[in-house]
Amino acid sequence: MPGLPEQPDPPILQKMLRLIKFHLSFQGGFKADALTLTINRSEGLALLNSIRSMISFDNEADELAIARFNALIRQLPVMYGIIALNMLAAIVTHFSDLPLVLSVVVPGIMMAVGAGRTVAVIRDRNREVPVPEIKKKLRTSVVRIMPLATVYSVWAIFLFMHGDARQNSQIIFFTSVTTMAAAFCMMHAKQAASIILWTVTALFSTFLMTTGNLINQMIGFNMVLIALVFGMLLARAERNFTQLVSQECAEREQLKRMQTLNEENERLANTDSLTNLANRRQFLAEIDDCVAEHERTGQEFVVALLDLDGFKPINDVFGHPAGDQVLVETAGRLQACYAGTPVTIARLGGDEFGLLYRDPGSDENVMTLARQACDVFNTSFRFEEGSANLSATIGMARFPEAANTRSLLFDRTDYALYYAKQNAKSEPVFFSHEHERLIFASSALEQALRHADLDAEMSVEFQPVLDLKYGHTKGLEALARWYCPTLGRIRPDLFIKAAENIGMMGRLTEVLFRKAIEEARLWPGNLTLSFNLSATSLSSETAIMRLLSIAQQAGFPMDRLVFEITESAVMNDFDSALEVLNRIQGAGAHVAIDDFGTGFSSLAYVHRLPIDILKIDRSFIRDLTANERSANVLRSILGLCKNLRIACIVEGVETQEQFDLVCDLGARLIQGYYYSKPLSAGDAHMVLQIEFDMMNKRPPLRAVGSEG
Ligand code: C2E
Ligand code: CA
Ligand code: CA
Repeated sequence: MPGLPEQPDPPILQKMLRLIKFHLSFQGGFKADALTLTINRSEGLALLNSIRSMISFDNEADELAIARFNALIRQLPVMYGIIALNMLAAIVTHFSDLPLVLSVVVPGIMMAVGAGRTVAVIRDRNREVPVPEIKKKLRTSVVRIMPLATVYSVWAIFLFMHGDARQNSQIIFFTSVTTMAAAFCMMHAKQAASIILWTVTALFSTFLMTTGNLINQMIGFNMVLIALVFGMLLARAERNFTQLVSQECAEREQLKRMQTLNEENERLANTDSLTNLANRRQFLAEIDDCVAEHERTGQEFVVALLDLDGFKPINDVFGHPAGDQVLVETAGRLQACYAGTPVTIARLGGDEFGLLYRDPGSDENVMTLARQACDVFNTSFRFEEGSANLSATIGMARFPEAANTRSLLFDRTDYALYYAKQNAKSEPVFFSHEHERLIFASSALEQALRHADLDAEMSVEFQPVLDLKYGHTKGLEALARWYCPTLGRIRPDLFIKAAENIGMMGRLTEVLFRKAIEEARLWPGNLTLSFNLSATSLSSETAIMRLLSIAQQAGFPMDRLVFEITESAVMNDFDSALEVLNRIQGAGAHVAIDDFGTGFSSLAYVHRLPIDILKIDRSFIRDLTANERSANVLRSILGLCKNLRIACIVEGVETQEQFDLVCDLGARLIQGYYYSKPLSAGDAHMVLQIEFDMMNKRPPLRAVGSEG
């Protein structure tokens, strides 16, 4: 039976039959003194134990005991009511024939006991009764019922003895009906019902059988038969009752399990499985709550997006377990940082975390909180394979100042993050009116680019790279230029970003490359052409194949072609970038890593990439003269390139001082305003021609650096 322990006791009926194992022997007629009961010692002890366990509810399941008790406290008052009314009816018809003790004292005591029990039961109905007390009360009810039934039976017998034939038939009827009604009322306390039934039946029918009157004896016999049948019905009712309770119990348990399952599902649906933080769904729901709260109370809040800088390379270089470890540790650090404050931390996906400042205070206050989040990255992350330093960028927007809907607020937070990434790394950025203006401007730019005549409006400039060993130009880097008829001259980093945003980069790259190749074909000598590839071109093999075939069709030698890629573009999708780079080298062209030092700058992955040239970002050169550390970094990168047999171009050399220092550090290839600014196609052609002519007349100017 699910939900309930096995009942150790055999059904009541069997117990009663065991009781009737008392051998009834009748000697010459049905006389009271002729009845003898025989029972041996072990049977007696077994019987006592059986009686004890019969009246105990301790081994019973709590739910069953509670159900019995609830049924009992509903029905007990009814039972006492029936007994009292039937007694009154008997007294009315017998009053004049009865002594005071039978007409007043015994019924009075019985009714008082009944009334007292009724009051106690009604009190129990109105309170929560603990289970042990319930079991005790059930047992007491059973124990109490025995003297009650005995007193009642004896009283009825006395009334019988005092009455005439008609009165006696009333007593027989009243006793039978009252007994059954009482047993019925006590049905759910099985032992009590049996005790009532069998005590009254045994005493009263035994009495009837000893009266010597055949009719009475037959009635007594009938009473026993009816009690047997009624007892069987009670046993069946008891079985149904326990079954029903255990069924309800099982259903309740099932419901509870379903509820737990539902709660677990709900929790999983709202939790990020890796970090155990709230997930995007939960985060958005909490923002919605805050929006609703704002409508009620005017409470402002701030949403922040935190993005890890340098996470992707950890995944690519150290593997996904290391990446996961970083995310889990980041979650832990952020939780520790904001413990006890009204800030929700969520993982929104990848290496992006969401912060919801529910009681933000002033902008300065939020700035301080956001900086604290950035500071948790001051300690490096350690894994089995080594350690890595990460930082975080945070963009924030305040509701309702920056936006008055959730989705717009999210967009603006995203913009602030993007802005922070571009401009103010490691300093949190609040979305401001200036950003609003920029968004407007960039959408105007995207609009203009969509409608631009690329062939007519785009052009290419070329910036020479100086080879110090021979003192002449080694090659030129093609740099895109856009003159927009409506907006004027647009910086390449801006329109390239815009082209990427609107999915035009493929087309734009082809136009620029075609123009660059057309010019480069006309250059004298064996000068190289460097062409910048964006992340988009790196993620598609077909795009690079098209560029290679353009060069081929133009008859431009592959070994004079260099494709520049940035670290971040490679890290965007390391595996497909690797394939594209292999394609380039397979075709005989070269690969350069651009702006080295601004991204992940891990020598570990440089080693894994098929690269021929490394271009050191101009930010290192800018403070070269002032900062000893920059000189050391530059020296070690140059050393590394020498060891790896990779050519190294030092970018952004602007002054004589920088030039001298870079030469002293052993650089061989330099690019920058010091040697030449980017030149228009015509100027480049003219300068190269002059240089070529001079070279063919004169020996090299100066020979410095090593073979790198
Ligand atoms: P980049 O590839 O690092 O190109 C070098 C940038 O540094 C150029 O800016 C160049 O004018 C500038 N520069 C060169 N020497 C010096 C110097 O001594 N001092 C200073 N302060 N700057 C110097 P530009 O032309 O504005 O290009 C900016 C960026 O736009 C490029 O950076 C490159 O990332 C991107 N870009 C330019 N043309 C293309 C292109 O055709 N395709 C792609 N995908 N990106 C391009
Ligand atoms: Ca470049
Ligand atoms: Ca560069």
